[in-house]
Amino acid sequence: MSKLILILFFLLIGCSSKGSPNDIPVFDQNKAFDHLLNQCSFGPRNPGSVGHNNFFEYLHEYFSMLSSDIIIQEFNYNEHITGIDRKGKNLIVQFNKESKNRILIGAHWDTRAISDQDPNEENLNIPILGANDGASGTAVLMELGFIFSNFPPPFGIDLVFFDAEDVGINGEPTTFAVGSDYFSKNLPIRKPDSGIIVDMVGDKNLKIPIERFSYQVDKKKVKELWSLADKLSLSAFEYTLGYEIYDDHVPLWENAKIPTVNIIDFDYPNLFYNHWHTQNDIPENCSPQSLGQVGTLLVNYIYDKNHK
Ligand SMILES: [Zn+2]
Repeated sequence: MSKLILILFFLLIGCSSKGSPNDIPVFDQNKAFDHLLNQCSFGPRNPGSVGHNNFFEYLHEYFSMLSSDIIIQEFNYNEHITGIDRKGKNLIVQFNKESKNRILIGAHWDTRAISDQDPNEENLNIPILGANDGASGTAVLMELGFIFSNFPPPFGIDLVFFDAEDVGINGEPTTFAVGSDYFSKNLPIRKPDSGIIVDMVGDKNLKIPIERFSYQVDKKKVKELWSLADKLSLSAFEYTLGYEIYDDHVPLWENAKIPTVNIIDFDYPNLFYNHWHTQNDIPENCSPQSLGQVGTLLVNYIYDKNHK
């Protein structure tokens, strides 16, 4: 083998090692987990708190470096659990803005002002840290945004960070998801063809069955996502029907007819005990591997043209 051929050989090896045969970028679960830890370092991010204000500024700044197509959608609302009138802010970050085929990928960035499911009564009125409920979905989207800025996606992506998701009264589902309700009644962008919401995906013991409302509105996308997860050996995804959960995907469908799938693990960590809306929703109960499973699925769903 001549020197030239050897060089060519190594160049080829070098090229192919950059990505899989389909050139699918790699989702860095450790960076995503750093985004989760970083959010928690701001403290609770419930509306009206210092953490809420400061983290929004940080999030806006982070995406200003990754995309020039950013919209802040402000709205007024009454925070049901406190009765206080507040200003909410949704953040919309667009990639491949020219593309007519678009998918919305959303998460809520706010956290809950109270710990109303905490077993310890003294904690009931304390805000949660929201490592899983708030930070996990946002962390996955922050890392996805980094990928989109480096590898332009093959169709348009609208990343949407919803505010005021967790302001509702327990047992009254429609008092939740205020930011996505406003967004879907006042679309600040061209209507996306479909959507995916990512929420509570940080659980160390991640199990993601199919959320029932999602299955009703978009069976085809549910099947595509869960069979792709199977193909990729992402064992957190279980092809069984789980709970019906009122989350940001519901207003998107009901108000704007955007068929949206909710990727969520509500049993945190299992059927018998739940850290949801308690003081135990902390990074120690989350893991990089869990964020990695969800991020890897989404990256493959977006970039792998052969998965269907
Ligand atoms: Zn919540």
